Amino acid sequence: MANLNDPITILRGIGPTKAKQFAQLNIFTLRDLMCHFPRGYEDRSRLVTIDKLEPDHPACFKAMVMNQPRTSHVRKGLDITKVQVADCTARLNLTFFNQRFTTEQLEYGKEYIFYGAVSGDFIGYSMTSPVFEALDAPPVTTRRVLPIYPLTAGLSNASVLKAVQQALAICDPPEEILPPELRQQYHILPAERAYTAIHAPASMEEAEMAKRRLIFEEFFVFSAGLCLMRATRSERHTAPYENTDLRPFHASLPFSLTGAQERVIGEILADFRRGIPMNRLVQGDVGSGKTMVAAAAAYCAVQNSHQAALMAPTEILAEQHYQSLSRLFAPLGVRTGLLTGSMKEKDKKAIRSSIAEGQIDFVIGTHALLSDSTTFHDLGLVITDEQHRFGVAQRARLSAKGSDPHLLVMSATPIPRTLALIMYGDLEVSILDELPPGRQGVDTFLVNESYRPRLNAFIRRQVEEGHQCFVVCPAVEESESMNVKSAELWAETLRTAVFPNLRVSLLHGQMKGSDKEQIMSAFAAGQADILVATTVIEVGVDVPNATLMVIEDADRFGLSQLHQLRGRVGRGSAKSYCVLTSHNRNPETIQRLKAFCKTNDGFRIAEEDLKLRGPGDFFGSRQSGLPVFRVADLCCDLSILKEAQQASAQWIDNFGTADTPESKALRIRIAQLFQRSEGTLN
Ligand code: ADP
Ligand code: MG
Repeated sequence: MANLNDPITILRGIGPTKAKQFAQLNIFTLRDLMCHFPRGYEDRSRLVTIDKLEPDHPACFKAMVMNQPRTSHVRKGLDITKVQVADCTARLNLTFFNQRFTTEQLEYGKEYIFYGAVSGDFIGYSMTSPVFEALDAPPVTTRRVLPIYPLTAGLSNASVLKAVQQALAICDPPEEILPPELRQQYHILPAERAYTAIHAPASMEEAEMAKRRLIFEEFFVFSAGLCLMRATRSERHTAPYENTDLRPFHASLPFSLTGAQERVIGEILADFRRGIPMNRLVQGDVGSGKTMVAAAAAYCAVQNSHQAALMAPTEILAEQHYQSLSRLFAPLGVRTGLLTGSMKEKDKKAIRSSIAEGQIDFVIGTHALLSDSTTFHDLGLVITDEQHRFGVAQRARLSAKGSDPHLLVMSATPIPRTLALIMYGDLEVSILDELPPGRQGVDTFLVNESYRPRLNAFIRRQVEEGHQCFVVCPAVEESESMNVKSAELWAETLRTAVFPNLRVSLLHGQMKGSDKEQIMSAFAAGQADILVATTVIEVGVDVPNATLMVIEDADRFGLSQLHQLRGRVGRGSAKSYCVLTSHNRNPETIQRLKAFCKTNDGFRIAEEDLKLRGPGDFFGSRQSGLPVFRVADLCCDLSILKEAQQASAQWIDNFGTADTPESKALRIRIAQLFQRSEGTLN
């Protein structure tokens, strides 16, 4: 018997080449393989007669070969094999392309099981390249419910299927984590049956039941993990903060705060005085001034002799926060520091020791803050910016560096209720529903290629007026599979062919951190006219002199993402514009983009986006900070989610400290899940 953690290379037929292809799908071990669930099924279990075959509806049928298959060599690279088959209801002509060797297996006078769809014309039905198996062969591609797997280049469904079946034959499926009582109560299949049935269901109904079990399991692990975290956090106390005099802070700001900013800061100060660690989410549209709210909170923590930390999802954003906040805080006697992954080892070490010794009051950084080597003298406040990009575990990990610090999370993305329940079920919410005065909405236009000359002229005019321009492309490099503009090539085109006398720079996520920072700060300092970039600039970047945002192939982005990108302009006093280009002709796509042009309201856009794409894609792929659910879909499986949440609460009450094999297995799974969700950081 093999072990779940054995590498897949112990399977027959998986050598180094195949293993690399499986690695593309994140499959390394037998466990990974068994957890590579089908994305759907083809019901090939029912046999029909030939006269019942319907065009475009593939089906299985048993038929006899009525003549000797004949292959003609049409030209180089094209062989056509024709053969006639029949059952007691009808005859059917089959055509195969370039399958000379396969079709040689078809013997005149013998019966086979075929699977395919007929196509018809007025002469009669025929069928192209059906799959077939001999009657006495084991049912692999016919006479069964066939799982259809997510694939990658070079890897066929058949080879994944073969590997999974082998794995199931030599190794026990993943261990049971649900106690029998719960399984019974919620009508859940046992683990062993579910894992077998999801890959080799006897019927579509069984596949459905297996899927339900696995969805339940995923949600259960996730909510049990959250429950555990919450349980360990409740019943905690901190020393209440003194009333802090914010007047010096206000006095050092170049503007007065908006009413909404004042209100939210007031809510935070009230939390500070309560003597229980704060757990607050600040939601505000792009440009609503969340940074100043964070700054006020940090100022308050520091005045109460604690350290504060602000974690940003990208190096660019951390760097930028550091620039503006260190300037703001220096005259106030608050000592700030920056810690990012791409800094020189020596500098990181120096900063880390200052943090540990309490010589830095307010540290701003990326997830480098989470590393074990970062320790704090007395961390009293943890702030995460653009929270939706961080996983729950990261939030918890940073908090663990202090003793019950206050927690402030900030998000520009309005979060739908169901998702909020999952991600921040335990947080208080403050809303920044007011933009700083003098902001004008960003005028947004959708154009196609025929506008290119006018668009170029428009860009040139903005630059001549002393402003700057962002150009965002969906891809970094040219790729054949995606017919979209790449930042690299487009930057080169603009630089050499379109705007030879303007300064065009390039920024994308695959660049080194220090290069990114340098390019971004040069652009912010006005040393480039046009910044061609990928969505690395999506979050938070603040260049008030930029007045034009051009988004190439805008149909490639989600609405919330477009809104974030558009939020990069319109931050100064000058009128700003956003131009979306797209050659997509799909009426729905055009309608979606046109609707986007008409509103600047982030909350409305988020709702629309959610309706269109469902929460799985809502935050943009990969970056949601949510754990990757393999089978569960947050949009459609809400009723199972509710059950799983209920069940997990029950589990904590009844089995939370139990020492059963299920409990142990569950704890391991929880740890793994939250670890994995950290990988979603960019
Ligand atoms: P976001 O909520 O998107 O993080 P920022 O905190 O980056 O917004 O603020 C956007 C811009 O608005 C910044 O340039 C900031 O200095 C400015 N700003 C913030 N608050 C005010 C205010 N009360 N009055 C004027 N400008 C403000
Ligand atoms: Mg921000």
